[in-house]
Amino acid sequence: MAGGEPKTVGVAGDGSLPLPWLRAPLDQALRLKRSHALLVHADQDVGQTELALTLAQARLCEHVERAPCGQCAACRQVHRRTHPDLRIVVPEVLRVRFDWLVEDDPLHRANAKPSREIKIEQVREAIEWTQRSASSARGRVLLIFPAEAIHAASANALLKTLEEPPGNLRIVMAGGDPQRLLPTLRSRVQRLRMAVPDSAQALAWLSTQGAAPASRALAVCSGGPLAALALHEAGLDDATLDQLPAAVARGDAQALLGKPLPLVIDLLQRVAHDAMARAAGGAAQYFDGATVPAGATLSALARWQRELLRTARHDDHPWNAPLLVEALVTNGARCWSSAAAPAHQPSTHWLHSPG
Ligand SMILES: [Zn+2]
Repeated sequence: MAGGEPKTVGVAGDGSLPLPWLRAPLDQALRLKRSHALLVHADQDVGQTELALTLAQARLCEHVERAPCGQCAACRQVHRRTHPDLRIVVPEVLRVRFDWLVEDDPLHRANAKPSREIKIEQVREAIEWTQRSASSARGRVLLIFPAEAIHAASANALLKTLEEPPGNLRIVMAGGDPQRLLPTLRSRVQRLRMAVPDSAQALAWLSTQGAAPASRALAVCSGGPLAALALHEAGLDDATLDQLPAAVARGDAQALLGKPLPLVIDLLQRVAHDAMARAAGGAAQYFDGATVPAGATLSALARWQRELLRTARHDDHPWNAPLLVEALVTNGARCWSSAAAPAHQPSTHWLHSPG
């Protein structure tokens, strides 16, 4: 699920980490030898971007080797993204989402469509930057994320720098599944996999963000706290989530209208998954099994899943979102009604029964 945004960059002046569960992976990353090109990855968003930014800060901090102090001039510059030895390369969609647009940015234009890819010009500019000398002995840090947004041409441009980084350069990438990376990139980076934080820590953090109770949201998001927070911020609280499978089964899309489309499609995919698990005699994974109505047919659910998958691939298209959501939920409800239909077929007899 789409999740968090780096509202803060690295450790703040009070020494607090951007996300409390970054301590262990940060220590782990700093202990790695030969980590001149590191890929921080996880199956879902658990703060890879925040870790990469904190790692950059740790490398550039004037005081400590282990964790950045958050207070020195270098830390403060990283925090503001103005450190001369830090370069951050992200696709335009992220610059828009993180609100990192500069004054007279071309993306301010109404008809500008931000790119989802890291463009080759961006990589070339970054490589040129790595060849200039660093402003301090700490060296330079090049951050690139998400790593999946690096396509073939950009990857080729980057290979030599990954193999022989000039001077005291460290490259940190953040991303999801490394299998989605080009093999040429994958083989040239050291990998650090981040785990989801334990649920007690995740729930405590969600509570500090105003999202409580959130144990259902956390389960729906496979333990990913940033996605759980996104659900909560979209108005999908635990009570609503507990009622969602039943609402879908009766064709009621109300709770999903006006929510971000990728989030809605993702939720429906999880409803479909759990309904299939129930129909096959298994246990629900995301929702409370007792809230997932039984009686849907497997073949209908499989059809609905395929439809959801197709729609997910095109979720950036400016469709009429409410109509689309209504249609997806209506088609979901058919998975249950098609199973129930035979039982209701002889429906005329009660019309004639007295009383
Ligand atoms: Zn510092």
